[in-house]
Amino acid sequence: MTFDPTFLKKIEEKLLAEKEKVEHELAEFTVKTGAGQEIVFPEYGDQSGENAAEVASFDSDLSLKNVLNDTLRDINSSLKRLSENTYGICKYCGQEISRERLEIRPTSSSCIDCKKKFSGE
Ligand SMILES: [Zn+2]
Repeated sequence: MTFDPTFLKKIEEKLLAEKEKVEHELAEFTVKTGAGQEIVFPEYGDQSGENAAEVASFDSDLSLKNVLNDTLRDINSSLKRLSENTYGICKYCGQEISRERLEIRPTSSSCIDCKKKFSGE
């Protein structure tokens, strides 16, 4: 494990801020739609700014809510990995995920190589 505490702290803060934002948005949806349904949603691109593009590409509230649920789940599992000191380790090959990738997408749970392999790119 070569991640330094400062880096991990920064990631944790990012995740917590994102979590708060997503929970807030989800709460608004729950009020608006009254729906509690969760549907598994495919993972989209890997670039920074992807979330905004993702969200903008969905025109129904339900789709957006699914994305939020999915994001929240990713955030929570990332926070769990942080607390268990397994954060930043690829779930497929066990190698460390690059800092650059984690900074762009703190919820990453696989390295770029495995991500490519498993998404068939
Ligand atoms: Zn990997």
